[in-house]
Amino acid sequence: MSDVRNVIIIGSGPAGYTAAVYAARADLNPLVFEGSVTAGGALMNTTDVENYPGFPDGILGPELMDSFRKQAERFGAELLADDVVEVDLRQDPKVVKTVTETYLARTVIVATGSGYRELGLPNEKRLSGRGVSWCATCDGFFFRDQDIAVVGGGDTAMEEATFLSRFARTVTVVHRRDELRASKIMQDRAFANEKIRFVWDSAVTDIHGETRVSGLTLRNLKTGEESELPVTGLFVAIGHDPRSELFKGQLNLDDEGYIKVDAPTTRTNIDAVFACGDVVDHTYRQAITAAGTGCAASLDAERWLADHT
Ligand code: FAD
Repeated sequence: MSDVRNVIIIGSGPAGYTAAVYAARADLNPLVFEGSVTAGGALMNTTDVENYPGFPDGILGPELMDSFRKQAERFGAELLADDVVEVDLRQDPKVVKTVTETYLARTVIVATGSGYRELGLPNEKRLSGRGVSWCATCDGFFFRDQDIAVVGGGDTAMEEATFLSRFARTVTVVHRRDELRASKIMQDRAFANEKIRFVWDSAVTDIHGETRVSGLTLRNLKTGEESELPVTGLFVAIGHDPRSELFKGQLNLDDEGYIKVDAPTTRTNIDAVFACGDVVDHTYRQAITAAGTGCAASLDAERWLADHT
């Protein structure tokens, strides 16, 4: 059992590391659980990040996250490449457990992010950042005058397809069913867009390309017929899963599993527990917004500690 820490931060993406920079510079000596496999968060899976301010020539995702990490370390954040497997946030101090150790803290910042749902195809990971993307806002710009595809049938898929039509020559929406789940207004907007076309009752079964995406194999789920779709981009828009399982039954979650906070603060329903980044946010989901709320969470924790000395 460790001493009682001022702040424990769970998560190591833009939100967690930014919270760590702020908490460390406030002399709170934060302990950060980075996760055992994916320290650095979602941007470790991408190539160029061109919309993070301060990098006019863009920066590689892993390089950006390495800089976040170094900045947190420079001010004295303690980083542990370990997974938190259990928490008891109702206790005072809060209890945070890994497989081997138990840690205590007066405040906890949750920054565990969210996972983008994948299609589960063999080439999907290999071509991630090389034509396969989960974020139109992040990557749409790279597909100017190209033919691209979007997989999905919900609001996000329609929003992504409509946004991408600003850049792309054509956008083909591939959907498993013969009707969309998206709201009527989003559907109407997509149907009215001349650049967007639909392939119904179909799934992507393979992604082609050596160094970049060059095409897809589609299978019609009713007839079993296969066809090729020559595209240079594939946007996967089949949903996200916030990593909030660990906090179920303690922190209030919305219907989709995102942690509820008392916006514009990062306060959760449990005193001295704060949440930030994509585990809270199903609207913006950007590195800069995650970093912004990470900063807010750290300031909220700092103020809580100041009020409870
Ligand atoms: P994450 O980055 O998801 O980090 C959460 C971290 O917490 C992970 O490392 C995870 O392993 C760790 N963690 C989770 N649970 C535990 C636990 N129990 N114990 C310990 N650690 C845990 N945004 C942009 O602004 N620009 C872009 O160009 C861009 N490109 C993207 C490309 C791709 C392929 C993807 C997937 C996303 C992209 N995004 C981009 C979105 C951006 O990456 C996310 O919005 C941002 O990373 C969210 O930050 P976060 O800190 O909330 O969570």
